[in-house]
Amino acid sequence: MHNINHWSSNHFYIDDSKIKIKHNNVAIIDILNEVKKDIKGPINLKFPHIVSSSIDRIFSCFNQAINKFDYSKSFNAIFPLKVNQFSNFVSEFKKLSKKYNYGLEAGSKAELIIAMNYNNEDCPIIVNGFKDEEFIRLCFLSHKMNKKTTIIIEDLQEIKNIIKLSQEMPKSIPFIGIRVKLHTSGIGIWKESSGIDSKFGLTSIELLEAISLLKKENLIQYFKILHFHIGSQIEDIKPLNKAIKEMGNIYAQVKKMDSNALDSVDIGGGMAVEYSHNPKKISVNYSTQEFANNVVFLLKDSINNQGIEEPHIYIESGRFITAHHNVLLVPVLELYSQTYSIDKIINKENNPPLVDELDFIYKNISKKNAKEFLHDSIMHMDNLLTLFDLGYIDLIDKANTEILVNLILSKCAKLLRNIPEEEKEDLQNMVKDRYLLNFSLFNSLPDYWGIKQKFPIMPLENLDDDLRSASIVDITCDSDGEIRFNKDFPIYLHEIDLSKDNYFVGIFLTGAYQEILAMKHNLFDKPTDVIIECDRAGFKVKKITQANKISDTLDFLDFDIEEIKKGYLDNFNKKDYDFLNMTLNSSNYLSS
Ligand SMILES: *Cc1c(COP(=O)(O)O)cnc(C)c1O
Repeated sequence: MHNINHWSSNHFYIDDSKIKIKHNNVAIIDILNEVKKDIKGPINLKFPHIVSSSIDRIFSCFNQAINKFDYSKSFNAIFPLKVNQFSNFVSEFKKLSKKYNYGLEAGSKAELIIAMNYNNEDCPIIVNGFKDEEFIRLCFLSHKMNKKTTIIIEDLQEIKNIIKLSQEMPKSIPFIGIRVKLHTSGIGIWKESSGIDSKFGLTSIELLEAISLLKKENLIQYFKILHFHIGSQIEDIKPLNKAIKEMGNIYAQVKKMDSNALDSVDIGGGMAVEYSHNPKKISVNYSTQEFANNVVFLLKDSINNQGIEEPHIYIESGRFITAHHNVLLVPVLELYSQTYSIDKIINKENNPPLVDELDFIYKNISKKNAKEFLHDSIMHMDNLLTLFDLGYIDLIDKANTEILVNLILSKCAKLLRNIPEEEKEDLQNMVKDRYLLNFSLFNSLPDYWGIKQKFPIMPLENLDDDLRSASIVDITCDSDGEIRFNKDFPIYLHEIDLSKDNYFVGIFLTGAYQEILAMKHNLFDKPTDVIIECDRAGFKVKKITQANKISDTLDFLDFDIEEIKKGYLDNFNKKDYDFLNMTLNSSNYLSS
């Protein structure tokens, strides 16, 4: 049902009816039970060991490919900061990645400031993005501090500023890279980010002009890297293969133009993550090893064919490194089906005959007649609703109809286990229940809202119990704050009694991009972060960063908190004032 093998990338598995961490066999529910006290709203559980293992995986696959194809140069990785720039993450990443000489990639001035200060010593920094003179000066200063900074030229204009600053700071001239526009296009949502129409990179004629300009200005000895990035989440390997071949040919040609220092190709990011938990809707058609083999083989092959030696390889994978390390745990506040129970029926002296008929169906439904009764009750409901619209039945009749039909559908869903797949999906869609979750979809899953990115969503324990199809609604007052039941990417949760138990839903693969893309819609802000350190023996809560307070959020919007408090002082007694102060100091999420 959850097909965890498809998307967990071997970081999680199911055992004893619970979802567990592969590294140490700890159940996520056990971690939750230890940390959930005193936390309001959603919790981001962060597992640095997963980042570490993803890094190991990329290096082991590329090193294996390098051995297999007798590749003579090195493999290097750079982390693109735009995937997660929070200090908790960057500080952890610095420690985890040190042994691989892992560098950082910056796409803006602010990111470069982070890279300059948080990069491991002697590790490369690569600077992408459009740059003005101030940005290029920052690149020079970065190189002054760290001798391995490369400016990637995205636009011919940038060379003019590089020339100008190289005269002013001849001892701090960074390495130079050029981003090329490939004619090969990516696929999927980001396909516009490469190819002739792409926003970034130099066309062939601009590349030729750039090289002659660098030669003329004596900067060609700094020109080390050719760069491309065909887009994020490349699900199909074919366009990548074409791009690598095209890049190999461009590299060989440029190398032949006396670009003597040029020795590296940066293939950007884009390695995809499987988000689908439906085995029939797998989206990624390659493994990490296949990706590595193709890059190494095709680059070597196309470049050697032109009589040129292969280059060092740089990769800028972000999503692949971080997606699995964050698990979002969200408390359920309400389950709407609880309004439909048989004791809620309002008895009347005379029911409309069709309501009596529904009551009969509900009491007499069995495995044998379930299908027929199902069809009948839907027909009766349609007729009853029409009668209501025409004024022939009253609100009590309508309420009784809704209760009975919902109860009948739930019974059918249990009885009809062996019906054809398609009918089952329709039935699940009809009986789906709506769960109100204490989170904001806009803050915690912005890519669901923005690009309909799917995330695996499931309970954390009792996975062998009967589960029911579910829709999820968040606590923002925006009707887009909903994940509707979708038969291609279904969500299944428990039928629970929230008056007895609390219940958390796990949302997986939320570790890439979501936190920094987060929106403050309705002023729901950053939830609580908990860093969990795992070793073979167990786990340790390493750090808890409480959710942003309402006062932090208002401050971000330039409200004057002191003025708000003063307004309180003028109007309220001590008890009320203390309450208002406490509210300002707590998070905007609800107490579940
Ligand atoms: C976004 C980006 C990346 C990271 O892409 P992923 O799909 O997360 O691996 C790498 N390089 C550049 C230039 C980017 O813009």
